[in-house]
Amino acid sequence: MIKLYDTKLRRKVDFEPIEEGHVRMYVCGPTVYNRIHIGNARTFIAFDTIRRYLEWRGFEVTFVQNVTDVDDKIIKRANEEGRTAAEVAAEYTEAFIADMHAAGVEDPTVRPKATEEIDTMIELVSELVAGGHAYEVEGDVYFAVRSYPGYGALSGRNVDEMEGGHRELRADGQGLEDRKRDPLDFALWKAAKPGEPSWESPWGPGRPGWHIECSAMSHKYLGLPFDIHGGGADLVFPHHENERAQSEAAYGCSFANHWMHSGMLQVANAETGEAEKMSKSLNNFLLLHEALDLVRPEALRMLTLQTHYRSPLVFGDARLAEAEAALTRIENAVRNMDWQLGNAAADAGAGALDVAALEAAETAARAAFTESMDDDFNAPEALGAVFGLVGEANAALGNATVGAADAEIVRRVRDTVVELMGVLGVDVTKAAEADAAAAYPAEVVTLAADLAGFAGDDAAEAVEALLEARAAARKEKNWALADGVRDGLAGLGFVIEDTPQGARVTYAG
Ligand SMILES: [Zn+2]
Repeated sequence: MIKLYDTKLRRKVDFEPIEEGHVRMYVCGPTVYNRIHIGNARTFIAFDTIRRYLEWRGFEVTFVQNVTDVDDKIIKRANEEGRTAAEVAAEYTEAFIADMHAAGVEDPTVRPKATEEIDTMIELVSELVAGGHAYEVEGDVYFAVRSYPGYGALSGRNVDEMEGGHRELRADGQGLEDRKRDPLDFALWKAAKPGEPSWESPWGPGRPGWHIECSAMSHKYLGLPFDIHGGGADLVFPHHENERAQSEAAYGCSFANHWMHSGMLQVANAETGEAEKMSKSLNNFLLLHEALDLVRPEALRMLTLQTHYRSPLVFGDARLAEAEAALTRIENAVRNMDWQLGNAAADAGAGALDVAALEAAETAARAAFTESMDDDFNAPEALGAVFGLVGEANAALGNATVGAADAEIVRRVRDTVVELMGVLGVDVTKAAEADAAAAYPAEVVTLAADLAGFAGDDAAEAVEALLEARAAARKEKNWALADGVRDGLAGLGFVIEDTPQGARVTYAG
């Protein structure tokens, strides 16, 4: 049974989807006025991992994520740059999708855009007005917070203790508090101001407020109630509180069965190492695509997995180096197992490896991984299970001669490591592929021509020819040639290792 921490209930609960075998999830998407920063990325990676895990556990997952493509920030940027809001939104929607792909985040099942769902939102606002939960003032429509008795239950706030949290400003900066019946009320629909994109509505031309978007889209694409509503912890109030109030007031039923929130991202101060809030004023603001210039996407993902999704995640050089080292350790183990499998000695009999011990380690790792992820998606612990298996495999394979009889268990351990890391969204086979495709220095072709009579021009084939020439030379006790090949390769950055299965060459560059 999967347990998840429910923000509204403030405890871990057993998770069972409303419809057997099918999980319906909604995670608030970006406002497309800029490239997303690493704090946003942390949230999206966290929920991508949760989704992948649910799928791996056999659930079908319908994952809906909106794109907020009309908003004050988009309009502001468009005005500053002399472009239309639609142009700005289109540019950053495309950039967002590219950033998500670069970070290994899967596409949602549905990615609705606010500007393509205006009718859906107008319908919902009309519903709220008709039900007495919203009212119009000169083309603006506000949600009447006190008309919905459950307001505050998600974020644990009491309406009577709240200050006017939703201050709406006019273009001239003058407050609109006097227009609202209650300072807590918030905008569902905003009357058009000059120079802004607008749509026709029963209240005149205008555009939707932000909160109404997610209520309309989750209702349309998932139906109510759905299973999991997710987002960053900064969205609990007011955004999610408002979504919930609107939806439950309009449709008269429960909105989301469970609320899940990922913790905030902090940045380690370069000098003191202390965790600080990421902000432009502290000069520690990092966009996702900038982070991906510093580090491989797999390592960035590893870094996010090393902290529980609900805990604050501290980003910094030391953490990146740690994540890269952890990733490399797993990649090397996989690469080593791949090599062993490709070169297993046909004649090494059974008994070279302790097969029973490796089988037990593989079974235990799968069980520990599942147990950890079932417990509120505890990825750091799940990673621990993978590292445990990698450690066992390294120890077992370190000095052993792998024979054909051992290949099956080595294959099983290798595939399990790759599979479990894949569930967490990390492809640990990339390094091996990169290895194979590594550009060897062109000089190796000349070396092979000189020492091995090689006539081709492919560097990888040249290395093969050199190794064959060396093996033949050793057989003939032609030590001068054998050493010449080894020294020549070493001079170009290759390392030769003689193993019971033959010579193994790695290129260190
Ligand atoms: Zn939302």
